[in-house]
Amino acid sequence: MTTTPKPAQSGNGPVGLDPRTTVVHAGRPDRVAGEPLNAPLVLASTFHADTAAGLAAHDGSPGAVSASRIYSRNDSTPGWEALEDAIGELEGGEAVAFGSGMAAVAAVVDTLPVGSLVALPSDCYHGVGELVGDAAAVGRFRIERYDVADTAAAIDAAGRADLLWLESPTNPMMDVADLPALCAAGRTAGALVAVDNTFATPLLQQPLALGATVSVHSATKFIGGHADLLLGLVVTADAALTAALRRRRALAGAVPGALEAFLALRGLRTLALRLDAGQAGAHILAQRLRDHPAVRRVRYPGLSDDPGHRRTVAQANGFGAVLAFEVADARTADRLCAAVRVVSAATSLGGVESTIERRSKMPGAHIPAGLLRLSVGCEAVEDLWADLSRALAAAG
Ligand SMILES: *Cc1c(COP(=O)(O)O)cnc(C)c1O
Repeated sequence: MTTTPKPAQSGNGPVGLDPRTTVVHAGRPDRVAGEPLNAPLVLASTFHADTAAGLAAHDGSPGAVSASRIYSRNDSTPGWEALEDAIGELEGGEAVAFGSGMAAVAAVVDTLPVGSLVALPSDCYHGVGELVGDAAAVGRFRIERYDVADTAAAIDAAGRADLLWLESPTNPMMDVADLPALCAAGRTAGALVAVDNTFATPLLQQPLALGATVSVHSATKFIGGHADLLLGLVVTADAALTAALRRRRALAGAVPGALEAFLALRGLRTLALRLDAGQAGAHILAQRLRDHPAVRRVRYPGLSDDPGHRRTVAQANGFGAVLAFEVADARTADRLCAAVRVVSAATSLGGVESTIERRSKMPGAHIPAGLLRLSVGCEAVEDLWADLSRALAAAG
């Protein structure tokens, strides 16, 4: 619990606020009587051109270049700006919003020159492995896989990498990386260091303060928080990289929808409350699952005997609302998923509703057949436990 998130430095509110207040206040319009409290939802592809600036350009007048927005694939729209301001303020950098988490990942990866060595965790979000794997298959990159939990091996890989991709905790194995040590090793070697911060959120972990070049989020998960949108974010304090990411977003058309950005910001407002509920529930469920005879292993960094516990205490402000547990085999796991009635058998995570999934359905030979990933939402924990223990019994 050593990481103190950076105090608010921009926006319209008072500076130096607790991040729990920042999620509520950041990215709001100026306080003007009669104007809305929230950044309004603006549905527009096209904006009126600045014809005065256009005419002035012919006589070379100063200020002839228009700074106004013209088209919403190229220029930030009011809705994304509010979300980007808020996330940037929370993580101490400038945020760039994308149409999904994977679009954000792709934009970071696309900044690399041909032939780059990408060091990827052996366990990380499967889409990242597939994206970089496809690029490697056509000769664009080289890939090296490393174990985030094995710090010596990870530092070794970092020393060779052009891009050190980190994810912590990892999806779905819940491994925790020593982020300060690995970020430092990557930066020393001249690598771009990216941390996928989706599981921790800006409230629990601050990748830039821990030494990363960029922090990446699937805002589809906890930031949005209601399983009703796709959106991604990259945060960095490197101005040249921000410009490259914005250009990439415009040219690839990887822009978020205005409604999605509006909903993601609305979701952010309750992030602290939702995380409180999810973390408290995850902690109780992790303990009870660990003691259940049908459960072989639980991975949750909040358990004091979990391999990631001490690292999480040292570098994060909490343990999060996701856990993984293992039952006998894939069939038992599928029966459990078919038996739950309060928890939803569904992919994705980070919503107000708890979701469970057998993760060996996804690519990744390292994932045990009976591994279930549980994202704990905001339901009453005793209802969740009654549901899970009944489903465990039904699964046999
Ligand atoms: C879901 C997820 C992604 C991909 O995000 P999308 O919004 O689905 O494109 C990336 N990283 C992690 C850790 C995720 O859980």
